Amino acid sequence: MIQSVAPGVFVETAHLGSNNAIVSTTDGVVLVDAPHRPTDAVAWRATAEKFGEIRYLIHTDHHIDHTMGNYYLPGLVVGQDRTRDGLVNHFPEPGYIDDLIRIIDPEGVPLMAGHKPRLPDITFTDEMDLYVGTTRLRLISLSGHTPNTIGVLLPDEGIFFSGDNVCAASLPSFQEAYVDEWLRTLDRISELDFDVLVPGHGDLTNKAFVATFKAQMQEVVGQVAAARSAGSSREEAAENIRYEDNIHGATPDWSVGYPDDILEMLQVRSICQIYDQIEAGTLA
Ligand SMILES: [Zn+2]
Repeated sequence: MIQSVAPGVFVETAHLGSNNAIVSTTDGVVLVDAPHRPTDAVAWRATAEKFGEIRYLIHTDHHIDHTMGNYYLPGLVVGQDRTRDGLVNHFPEPGYIDDLIRIIDPEGVPLMAGHKPRLPDITFTDEMDLYVGTTRLRLISLSGHTPNTIGVLLPDEGIFFSGDNVCAASLPSFQEAYVDEWLRTLDRISELDFDVLVPGHGDLTNKAFVATFKAQMQEVVGQVAAARSAGSSREEAAENIRYEDNIHGATPDWSVGYPDDILEMLQVRSICQIYDQIEAGTLA
């Protein structure tokens, strides 16, 4: 169900995949992240265009659950420069995506003919301001969940879109994370001026939740550190430590999630990534 966050700002938290936002301005529409499922993306375009022409589509990272639906959406694509690099050089093979869509969106399979992600038309490295009509959007590079994860601040409305640096559904994947930078990024997010936090996945929340999320992260990091201290190898830690995944797995909102082998792969890669960073000394 689409929720109204402020006048002209709407968020859909019930898509399988990322949260998707519509920012309706006096001069067209800005979208934050694209639906994962092709059928959701096509419907989302129709919903957004009721508010006017779609001018910009901002991606908070390069992962397919935030980007692949951009094929079905118009507007200039905006992202951090490494998001463009990720879409060019590290986009999953078509076979992987086709197999996944067959499971999570069977009706969307015909829409996959010719699918390829649209690349960012506009990129930035650290920060940029986007002025659309009378709306100001501040895009801030915030390394953490990925090196190229960004936050989008609407300073005048007091709304912050955190991307997957903060998720209310559960912890996201750590497979491309820089965990020490992520923890620092959470402190930086807490210092920004906003009231409503739109997480990468899950229900709308507020700034106080950032500390809760940080504690959830530290709990898993602590488990990996303890296993390593007790002599577990990387592989043993990755086999034994698990955290809840309500982002890719089935939930009350979507009865069909990612298949078990992919859920398992994401967990293994996440635990390995944390273990490696502890071993390299970049993480206490
Ligand atoms: Zn995500």
